[in-house]
Amino acid sequence: MTSPSPEKPNAAQDFWLTVLRTLIGRCPKCGHGRLFKSYLKPVEQCATCGEALGHIRADDGPAWLTILVVGHIMGSLMLALPWDEYSDTVMISGVTALTIVMSLAVLPYAKGFFIGMIWRAECVGTEK
Ligand SMILES: [Zn+2]
Repeated sequence: MTSPSPEKPNAAQDFWLTVLRTLIGRCPKCGHGRLFKSYLKPVEQCATCGEALGHIRADDGPAWLTILVVGHIMGSLMLALPWDEYSDTVMISGVTALTIVMSLAVLPYAKGFFIGMIWRAECVGTEK
């Protein structure tokens, strides 16, 4: 394992601390300020410590992780459901609704995770 480089002090922070802070929607640096100002819109900077977070672009990472998690859960659930006990319309409607709700529930956690990892790697975000 390599030691964190002096040019990237964020990497010195414990990995799981960063994961925990961002999963609960808090600033990856201090853990107190909010990470999002709305459902998926990150704050420009932390209200508590002033860390710049608005330049971090998670792009398609959170959607990929959400599909990965929800897809595995729903795939397993669909195999376990009693499809012959209810009509196809009821089952498909229920599975679709549950998939949408689960995706919307997981997406903020996935985005927080990616923002935390990008913050930790100190990516510059030159696309802005
Ligand atoms: Zn902060």
